[in-house]
Amino acid sequence: MRAVKWALACACVVFGCAVERTPAPQPHVAVGGDSPLAAMFVRVAAEQGVAADTLAAASYVRTRFRFATADGAEAGGAIGLVGIGEHDVARAAMLAGVTDAAVRTDPEASLRAAAALIHADGLGSLQREVDAALARGIDGRDADGLSIVVAAHRAVAPNDGLGTTSQSVNYPGAVWMPASTSNYQVASRGAGDVDHIVIHDTEGGFDGTVSWFQDPAAQVSAHYVVRSRDGFVAQMVAEKNIAWHDKCFNTTTVGIEHEGFAAHPDLWYTEPMYIASATLTSYLADKYSIAKQHGPILGHGEAPDCSDHTDPGPGWNWEHYIELVQSGGAANFLAGDLVVDAPAALHSGELATVTVTLANHGTAAWDLDATRVGTQDPQDRDSDLFVDGDWIAPDRATAVDTQTPAGTTGTFTFQIRGPDVAAPIVYDEAFQLVEEGVAWFGPTFHVVVQIVPADAMPPDSAGCTTSGGAGGLVVVVAVAGLRRRRRR
Ligand SMILES: [Zn+2]
Repeated sequence: MRAVKWALACACVVFGCAVERTPAPQPHVAVGGDSPLAAMFVRVAAEQGVAADTLAAASYVRTRFRFATADGAEAGGAIGLVGIGEHDVARAAMLAGVTDAAVRTDPEASLRAAAALIHADGLGSLQREVDAALARGIDGRDADGLSIVVAAHRAVAPNDGLGTTSQSVNYPGAVWMPASTSNYQVASRGAGDVDHIVIHDTEGGFDGTVSWFQDPAAQVSAHYVVRSRDGFVAQMVAEKNIAWHDKCFNTTTVGIEHEGFAAHPDLWYTEPMYIASATLTSYLADKYSIAKQHGPILGHGEAPDCSDHTDPGPGWNWEHYIELVQSGGAANFLAGDLVVDAPAALHSGELATVTVTLANHGTAAWDLDATRVGTQDPQDRDSDLFVDGDWIAPDRATAVDTQTPAGTTGTFTFQIRGPDVAAPIVYDEAFQLVEEGVAWFGPTFHVVVQIVPADAMPPDSAGCTTSGGAGGLVVVVAVAGLRRRRRR
């Protein structure tokens, strides 16, 4: 069923007068949300002559909107909301007219410095990830759980391309992005020569990690690197060769790096990454006859490797990961127990909050930014209830409010605005959950709201207003089968 509007004004039912509708709105607010960071991105970007959404996306890509300090937990030792490299801090501070110390301690000063650096030098190695983030939009959270929404650039094709890519030498699900030959030992390992799979996290970004392993000075590498946002897998060293990922536990192991920071597993260890990594590990376990158990498959921090590394840290969900490995990476997205809390009626132009709760009945977690409410019937339809600055795009109302593991209940909160109407109309808009790039899932649900003209009587009393000889006609709108709860 597509979105249906019933004309409620009785006069119109009787006399067939036209109901005016406005065209579907388009996004104009580049960065919105209730976090104070949203306004800060807009303010600082304007002041430094860069685009606000570019600045916000750069912060998302580098730190997931966290303020990074030199301890490395947020951005691998890079500084501030956009993770400025230590070697760039002094110049960035100078360009922005702030002090070095302020960049390291004050979020707004760090943002000014980053914006000045982007204005002077461009995005450099961040360009591809920023483009990809802007293409699909961002619904992120600051450290206090408040939202930062960056509108999707829907005209731009998602830039997941990695230039000219080629098939990996081993795992068919990977793209071959070879490490520098200075960063591993050539060998001729076969099926009997690998007995453990070592799980790491990068404590850095995906692109930065790939670049580092391609730098002859690095003297480190891993066979595979998996990207956080979508589970993209790069193969960097052939499995027959010995990658240097694990100080003295390399000879009989395959190493897999995961983009992210152990301090923030909820922000970086996403379901698409778990699924992609587990599919790879399942393939490796079959190939080398390694038991699909936590033990032969182990974290760097657990490996007998004479280093002090602790990755991927306590936030890595081993129980979930091993289950995924045992199922060959098969995770399912299922949702039920739907409750929609929406207003029954709104004036044109009036804002209201819609809260949708759904139980996660699948085996996959729902992630910040990745698990979203999308329009249905037809899918990816522009919604008339779209709110600029609150929605990610006219076909994406919001993402899940917090990471929602399997077996728990997720909440999706978004605003709706009453469209301009000349006469009362009931809008019935269909939505469904979508794991971006993976699947649509769960029940299709409806937000049904009566919209009355801005100058009409209050919505609560705006039933069927009769006029023009239509007195006595009763219009009953049957909204059968809808599971919804009225707010008032
Ligand atoms: Zn490691």
